[in-house]
Amino acid sequence: MLLISCPNCGPRDETEFHYGGQAHVAYPENPNELSDTEWSRYLFYRANTKGTFAERWVHSTGCRQWFNMVRDTVSYDIHAVYPMGAPRPDLAIPPAAESGTASTAPDSTTTGTAAPDISGTSTTPASTTAPEGATK
Ligand SMILES: [Zn+2]
Repeated sequence: MLLISCPNCGPRDETEFHYGGQAHVAYPENPNELSDTEWSRYLFYRANTKGTFAERWVHSTGCRQWFNMVRDTVSYDIHAVYPMGAPRPDLAIPPAAESGTASTAPDSTTTGTAAPDISGTSTTPASTTAPEGATK
């Protein structure tokens, strides 16, 4: 269980909060000019970062205020809590310890999927990793 430091109330139990998804997803300037694909990307496509991730939280049973938090999705360490509208703090956090394959692209929101590295794993059947449309 997480102990989350609300910027208004101080440290409180995780059960008092609700998760609000990825932080810093800007509303499009001209949403009427977007294609359906671009609009759906704004609505539904989010980064699924393994490691430090900026996310929104609300203290729903406390002050009911939203805030941002930088949290490690692997270790659950909370690195920063900061108010809505503030930029993501520049933290000197080493990358996740288990990142065997280094990703050269830093935190891109346009690339939603990355192919899993299956070279070292042999526990999963090959049929689960076959590309879509592949025949046996
Ligand atoms: Zn609060």
